[in-house]
Amino acid sequence: MTLATVDPTTGKVLKEFAPHTPAEVEARVAAADAAFRALARTTFAQRADWMRRTADLLEAEADEVADLITTEMGKTLVSARYEALKSATAMRFFADHAERYLAPERPVDPATVGSAELAVRFDPIGVVLAVMPWNYPLWQCVRFAAPALMAGNTGLLKHASNVPQTALYLSDLFERGGFPAGSFPALLIEARDVSPLLEDRRIRAATLTGSVAAGAAVAEAAGRNIKKTVLELGGTDVFIVLPSADVSRAAEAAVTARVQNSGQSCIAAKRYYVHTEVYDEFTARFVEGMAATTTGDPRDEATTFGPLATGRGRRDVEELVADAVAKGATVLTGGVTPQGPGFFYPATVLADVTPAMRLYREECFGPVACVHRVSDLDEAIRLANDSDFGLSSSVWTTEPHEIDRLAREIDAGGVFVNGLTASFPGVPFGGVKYSGYGRELSAFGIREFVNAKTVWRA
Ligand code: NAP
Repeated sequence: MTLATVDPTTGKVLKEFAPHTPAEVEARVAAADAAFRALARTTFAQRADWMRRTADLLEAEADEVADLITTEMGKTLVSARYEALKSATAMRFFADHAERYLAPERPVDPATVGSAELAVRFDPIGVVLAVMPWNYPLWQCVRFAAPALMAGNTGLLKHASNVPQTALYLSDLFERGGFPAGSFPALLIEARDVSPLLEDRRIRAATLTGSVAAGAAVAEAAGRNIKKTVLELGGTDVFIVLPSADVSRAAEAAVTARVQNSGQSCIAAKRYYVHTEVYDEFTARFVEGMAATTTGDPRDEATTFGPLATGRGRRDVEELVADAVAKGATVLTGGVTPQGPGFFYPATVLADVTPAMRLYREECFGPVACVHRVSDLDEAIRLANDSDFGLSSSVWTTEPHEIDRLAREIDAGGVFVNGLTASFPGVPFGGVKYSGYGRELSAFGIREFVNAKTVWRA
């Protein structure tokens, strides 16, 4: 039984789910297709009304859903509640802005193309398969579903196997908000059963948030079937600190950047490049801040961060740290798995990490930071870009020419200056290189799954 709620705080299996049978999968695909036909005939105003009602329900149930998220993947109750409220905000945002984002456009003067009347419409394309991860089990889904449903598409949710109850809650939520039955059904299936779904003619596209391996598998199947994909994959984001930075603020933010969500965030800072002039001060403050974090009961407000979500995830982190230490990395704090139940792992800082170590290139999905000393801006940019990933970045300097160079030269989907990397409903989110392609959120996100249709009249 691979689909199950396992409490990461105790390691106990709380509830198991039998995977859907082929007939149950077929019923959900047919329902999503039928819902698409119904939804495509509705107005933006109607869909916005349902979306706002869905947001109202989610807000009213924020405590209950936060408890479910904490139970299934171990983040603190405070952050789970924040995630629920942020998801409701995104729903309202797309209820408010979808019609404007998808308003027909006149790309050129019609006369220049021999037309009396010319328009580009943005029509929905149908059922989109959404393969989602457990780390922000509500937010990741909503940031796809809110714009997709507002555009008139429907979704089929293949959520991560360790958050089945959150998947079922979410699928039900949109229906309770008023959307036609089948607008976002959850498929309780295993990963190996995902790619064959792309052969189904009723599924028109796929979006995946997760690992590079999963993204490649789904994109390969979609490619064979000439279907579009959006991929939101991993990251090894940089946190660059230069001499003009407010070092104390940067060090404080650096801790949050690495331990948020127990370090299991694609946009968590993972590689810290610090100018030699401020390296000692920054590293001392950063290590002190990391060492002062507490990991424990995610329902206790005094806890900084909870356990990792799965035993497998913790083993991956342990292996990466062990490999680095065996090859000469220095542990400045943490690095030792605590005894006892649950998948806990402490805030960890490593120095002397070299390209010979797996940690230098691979994503570490846990609270482990690598600090590197750099001699100037050129070296910081060169090392930042020496990565297979390019999701986002956080840079700390007040020098305008440095900000300008970092904004232009860092190969990533985002550059956040003197602040934490984050996602907002109105701002595009996505990466380059192995971090994926396509964008979510904003006008860019909602236009990923539409048919830009030219209507030319003589
Ligand atoms: P994962 O193992 O790739 O799982 C993500 C989803 O893909 C799950 O639903 C999983 O199902 C499914 N999946 C796994 N292998 C698959 C395959 N071969 N074919 C089809 N579906 C497959 O990733 P994870 O460990 O849960 O999540 C961590 C990764 O997600 C990290 O790399 C993180 O950086 C990335 N992430 C990226 C973003 C972003 O916006 N760029 C956001 C969050 C997370 P099962 O659970 O059944 O295996």
